[in-house]
Amino acid sequence: MGGNITGGCLCGELRYEANAAPTFMGYCCCDDCQKASGSGFIPFIGFAGGVLKVSGPHAMYQMKHKDGRTSERFSCAKCASLVFGGEPGNPNGNTIYAGTLDDTSQFKPVMAIMTKFKPDWVVLPEGLTIYEGMPG
Ligand SMILES: [Zn+2]
Repeated sequence: MGGNITGGCLCGELRYEANAAPTFMGYCCCDDCQKASGSGFIPFIGFAGGVLKVSGPHAMYQMKHKDGRTSERFSCAKCASLVFGGEPGNPNGNTIYAGTLDDTSQFKPVMAIMTKFKPDWVVLPEGLTIYEGMPG
């Protein structure tokens, strides 16, 4: 895959661009991703810190987990599309949600994680590495 990945929200105000290849791609079937997306999973694309450039109005939802971790999800402040996770500039990187790509064929999933939460009505493509929880 080339280095140039672009995408954004439904109304077009919140945009992102990545100038380096992603580090991983897959499906997350955790119950948080189900609730946040209103779907059975989130197709995610991970980038190293500093790779993702974001512009436009965004709203953050921060969730505190039982173990003390927090996670941040960002949506467009205008149209409310869920677009990416991780604060912009976060050294630990960011994940974008593949349905927001300008060219959705750039999504090439290799894994499915947290599949113990997967509803029966989500059918995963063949050939993915399956993790019932988080990858070791
Ligand atoms: Zn928008």
